[in-house]
Amino acid sequence: MFSQAEPGISSWGRIIRREHEIAHPRFAEEVRAWARDSKQARLAIGLRRSYGDSGLSADALLIDMSGLDRIISFDPHTRILRAEAGFSLDELMRLFAPRGLFPSTCPGTRFVTLGGAVANDVHGKNHYSAGTFGCSVRGFTLLRSDRGLIEVTPESEPELFAATIGGLGLTGIILDVSIELTAIPSSEMDVEITPFSDLNGFFDIAAASEDRFEHTVAWIDCTVAGGKGVFQRANWAADGARNPHKPPGLARLPIDAPNFALNPLTLKAFNTLYYTAQTTGDRSKRLHYAPVLHPLDSIHDWNRLYGGRGFYQYQCAVPASAREAVRDLLDWIARSGEGSFLAVLKSFGPKQSPGLLSFPMEGYTLALDFPNRGERTLRLLDELDAIVRRAHGRLYPAKDGRISRAMMQAGYSELDRFAASVDALCRSDFWTRVST
Ligand SMILES: Cc1cc2nc3c(=O)[nH]c(=O)nc-3n(C[C@H](O)[C@H](O)[C@H](O)COP(=O)(O)OP(=O)(O)OC[C@H]3O[C@@H](n4cnc5c(N)ncnc54)[C@H](O)[C@@H]3O)c2cc1C
Repeated sequence: MFSQAEPGISSWGRIIRREHEIAHPRFAEEVRAWARDSKQARLAIGLRRSYGDSGLSADALLIDMSGLDRIISFDPHTRILRAEAGFSLDELMRLFAPRGLFPSTCPGTRFVTLGGAVANDVHGKNHYSAGTFGCSVRGFTLLRSDRGLIEVTPESEPELFAATIGGLGLTGIILDVSIELTAIPSSEMDVEITPFSDLNGFFDIAAASEDRFEHTVAWIDCTVAGGKGVFQRANWAADGARNPHKPPGLARLPIDAPNFALNPLTLKAFNTLYYTAQTTGDRSKRLHYAPVLHPLDSIHDWNRLYGGRGFYQYQCAVPASAREAVRDLLDWIARSGEGSFLAVLKSFGPKQSPGLLSFPMEGYTLALDFPNRGERTLRLLDELDAIVRRAHGRLYPAKDGRISRAMMQAGYSELDRFAASVDALCRSDFWTRVST
């Protein structure tokens, strides 16, 4: 398999940038043939929408799986789709939404591969009803350095199945995935927008929405204390059209935004503008799924907005009993003045994921972006870690580039069990940090 050194490889947060050796296979057979003879350390990657270092590996070959993007089979009776691991949710939705089918879970971007969605066991705004992506996975083909090709299902290989769902690419190379699609009545959604003035308002609306709305999410203005924000809840429209989203002829950020563009004043202005835009005008509307589920996908490379130094995303989950921790996190952030363009607060439901390292837990998840200001930002994130840890919460590895081994161990009780399934030749910078 042909590979070459490529400079400046980074993940979505663009903090770590370095040379990597990368292979871009187009066929599963290329990967299989290479793996038969090679003892090289490796890490499969998808569309590189993870923020930190779980998709980077200083001393391994990165295998870019996005070229393996074909559908293998689809059964309309069981709604089970089998496709190569590089097939993206973007393509899946474009092909299947007009047929009334959709992935049961989709994260806030559709530019993710099936392999990446499995490896991070991604969640969407509908965790209450659908659980994580892993809940829809029926099986996959895994290429291991010790056992070769393995067809993995929950019945045939329960331990490997559980370790690979949310397994961060460390249990082997996923070549293809079988998932069960869900039926949707249309490609449109009936959306309601409700402003709230503090966190209690959020908790009340979230509780009242759990049974009645499939998709819920809140945006919080974290430049002010208290948790003022906007709650969005939506259901698929029963009588809407069935149109796929538009192909990417998307706006692009041509250059990195200058670092001085991000300061407390611009952050405050942005948050105020966003709040006003969301809460004026019609608060009940019908929208296509794209702006509801993937609002940021309309601007390609929006990560350049944070300038050349990149940014940290911080996403934590805390149990339902730890509401005070959400309050403490937001207070710390407001006091720090570091702010964030987008602070997203969602509820997670009780549905269990099959994955050992799956991130969601029943309760709340808060996700924020922080422009990288070096030590100052890292100190703030350490403070947030302490709150999350006291609340018995955890951080999301897909968004992380700095989590410590102790924090990982505190958040993930199955970490040691997971480690037993790691493929000896798979490694990422994330894993090197948390496992040694
Ligand atoms: C705007 C935005 C919004 C997001 N919103 C959400 C959200 O709402 N919920 C959520 O859960 N996540 C969210 N994410 C994170 C994103 O969904 C995950 O990081 C996802 O896993 C990225 O998929 P990818 O194809 O880009 O994989 P990559 O980022 O390239 O890789 C992710 C992991 O998967 C592994 N991997 C990839 N392909 C394979 C393979 N074939 N075999 C084995 N391992 C593999 C990699 O080694 C790595 O550990 C968001 C990201 C962005 C940029």
